[in-house]
Amino acid sequence: MLSRRFLLKTLAAVPGLAAMFSSTRAVASVGDSHPRDYFKELGVRTFINAAGTYTALTSSLMTEEVKQAFLYASTQYVNLNELHDRIGERLAQLLRCEAAMVTSGAASAITLGAAGVLTGLDPDKINRIPADLSSMKSEVIIQKSHRVGYDHAIRNTGIRLVEVETRADLERAISPATAMFWFLNYAGPVGKIKDREFVALGKQYGIPTFNDCAADVPPVENLWKYTEMGFDLVAFSGGKGLRGPQSTGLLLGRKDLILAARANAAPNGNTIGRGMKVNKEEMLALLLAVESYLAKDFTAEWALWEQQVLYIHQVVSGLPGVTTEIHIPEIANHVPSIRLFLDPAKVKVTPDQLRLALRNGHPSIETVGGSESLDMTTWMLHPGEERIVARRIKEIILT
Ligand SMILES: *Cc1c(COP(=O)(O)O)cnc(C)c1O
Repeated sequence: MLSRRFLLKTLAAVPGLAAMFSSTRAVASVGDSHPRDYFKELGVRTFINAAGTYTALTSSLMTEEVKQAFLYASTQYVNLNELHDRIGERLAQLLRCEAAMVTSGAASAITLGAAGVLTGLDPDKINRIPADLSSMKSEVIIQKSHRVGYDHAIRNTGIRLVEVETRADLERAISPATAMFWFLNYAGPVGKIKDREFVALGKQYGIPTFNDCAADVPPVENLWKYTEMGFDLVAFSGGKGLRGPQSTGLLLGRKDLILAARANAAPNGNTIGRGMKVNKEEMLALLLAVESYLAKDFTAEWALWEQQVLYIHQVVSGLPGVTTEIHIPEIANHVPSIRLFLDPAKVKVTPDQLRLALRNGHPSIETVGGSESLDMTTWMLHPGEERIVARRIKEIILT
């Protein structure tokens, strides 16, 4: 089913869409300009990424500006703390918040942010976490529906998670041990306490609030929306939509808390963050990723993604037993996405078998979904690759 609203939005947004689409062409195979094909030498298969920014699939490709910055940084020595300071200041300016730091992924931003809340600048406390939290607060309150596979990043600091569902539960759960309230942005709509109310509760009780927005650009304004809303700390991945190095992240927010997070981070030894080192190349490259992200033509980019989704829809929706659904997730991975449903009476393969055949075919194509559907996004495709994806799906289903 093709949403009418989706189509209208596409056609209205970009008058020159057809021209733009016809100008996209299949890219030369990556690595053409390189004398050695390292992945091939290692026997590691590369693929077309129709899945999206999945960590285990190496997420996103760095932009040209990012690669240039990375190489530039690799040619000279600097003082790492000084670079960290300057990049933090520049990021805070660009992202309209009080302070910022580059971390080694959003997961590390969560650990370091929580560590900073616990220890402040106290070297003894910094040394003692996570095993000994005496004379520190020790609990983080979280909505039950916001518990995900990433909350280990908070528990790394030694704190205990306290689950609540309603506002009344939360107010009852607050005690002298409460260090922080933690919010998972993409679960916002399913939690009983919404973002603004959550922030207000933090302010009312004088407890810092943290919002995990790791996969939540686009839209670009999310980069400042939640710090401006009043969250004390906000985390983003650097290597998802921002297309910085995959192992980078952003911690944004209150200056005192960012300073405390820095005190728990590399290059300081004997800290919880010493193993979450960010090198000068990654640090500078993430700054350039943010700069180039802010300068992007979002309308044109969105139109390209939509057009790629529409192309796949047009090719595969005519196949016997195939129906498609085009959708845009509300918060995380908020990009045009397509889902294929296969009628078992008419199609010989199940979604799982189709996914496997795409992966094992030539070229290899990665998609996601479950036993019910095959799911794809186009934002991590090179322009033109949507044709290969559509053709391969058609071939597999028709043979
Ligand atoms: C990806 C993700 C993380 C981890 O981000 P990294 O940058 O890979 O460390 C944390 N939380 C959520 C919700 C995510 O999607």
